[in-house]
Amino acid sequence: MASTNSPQKDWYSILGASPSTDIQELKQKYQKLILMFHPDKQRPSVSEGEAEKHLQRFIDVDQAWKILSNKESRNEYNLHLRACELKQIWPVDAHITLKDMNWDSDAECYTYSCRCGGEFILDKVDTQEVETVVCCDSCSLSVEVQKVT
Ligand SMILES: [Zn+2]
Repeated sequence: MASTNSPQKDWYSILGASPSTDIQELKQKYQKLILMFHPDKQRPSVSEGEAEKHLQRFIDVDQAWKILSNKESRNEYNLHLRACELKQIWPVDAHITLKDMNWDSDAECYTYSCRCGGEFILDKVDTQEVETVVCCDSCSLSVEVQKVT
């Protein structure tokens, strides 16, 4: 598994689903997998190592379903996925905090100069996120902005 080091697991791929999978289909996939990996449903011929792997899958499948079956936590997770996608599309040039940015009171937004001469512009409304990725207005770089509390 390539994602073992990542703190957030890929809950969709654990269920063999994608962000567009609807809740009914998700439930079917979950029920099938949870039966397949249920500790009580293992054949006696299964080795100890195998059984342990199955138990881990069982826990993951259960956790994935808990997150994705709840509308709120699913939305939250989708946002997280989107932020990861953005990071892959636009290389993050720097990690900064809101304090590093300049507050433009006329435009009601935060700005930060890019090394290309362009600017990162963060709208006031976007600062409600704990962490957000802002793209430069003239090149492909981006910065990750942490909100300090
Ligand atoms: Zn730039």
